[in-house]
Amino acid sequence: MKTNYEELWTTVPMYCPNCGTINDGYRNSEGKIKYECPRCGLVMVRTYKNRRHDLLEITIPEGMARLRG
Ligand SMILES: [Zn+2]
Repeated sequence: MKTNYEELWTTVPMYCPNCGTINDGYRNSEGKIKYECPRCGLVMVRTYKNRRHDLLEITIPEGMARLRG
């Protein structure tokens, strides 16, 4: 079995939807990319569904105010 480390450790940059800070996430073996915004603490999990469909889960930590939306 061959492990593709290059695929595993590719960083995927994404702007925080709450405060706009750019975050670097790492794709894990399940194809999920996890982000934790260093500025506002927002946690995002991006799940790859298929070529044209990503699922983005956004968690706002307790005690943190939403800046937008
Ligand atoms: Zn943020």
